[in-house]
Amino acid sequence: MVKESYLREEILALLSEIKDPEIPVVTIEEMGMLRDVILSDKGCEILLTPTYTACPAMGIIEQDILSTLKEAGIDNAKVTMVFAPAWTTDWMSETTKEKLIRFGIAAPVHSSCSNWLSPKNVEVKCPKCESTDTKLISQFGSTACKALYSCNHCHEPFDYFKCH
Ligand SMILES: [Zn+2]
Repeated sequence: MVKESYLREEILALLSEIKDPEIPVVTIEEMGMLRDVILSDKGCEILLTPTYTACPAMGIIEQDILSTLKEAGIDNAKVTMVFAPAWTTDWMSETTKEKLIRFGIAAPVHSSCSNWLSPKNVEVKCPKCESTDTKLISQFGSTACKALYSCNHCHEPFDYFKCH
């Protein structure tokens, strides 16, 4: 039986289970992308802030949200992208960053580093051996959100989640 009405908290709880398609060890809630749920007569509006505007994963996340809600009997839902305030890596909790490291991705070093383009200013720690003796190989790793680094200590390549 489909529930007549949902509470905002119940919908947030449902959606907080959705994983980031690019980093399946963390959820969209842990990444800080899930901003809010607004319930009105017209239905249910989900506010989502993309981590990176060009991130192809956003379409997948939107579909995941709509299908999760549909399974719960909520048909009149829509996803609205909110670009202000812009997502920042500050919205990731320390626990989330630790999960990224265990997944083999170096977590963002500091938040307002729009200066990742000059990686000499950024000390990136190898997620495998924790050495900071690393070098940038390519500004684009497995996805545009990440940069490819190599560790001079253990010689392993790894992804660095670029901060912004
Ligand atoms: Zn290493």
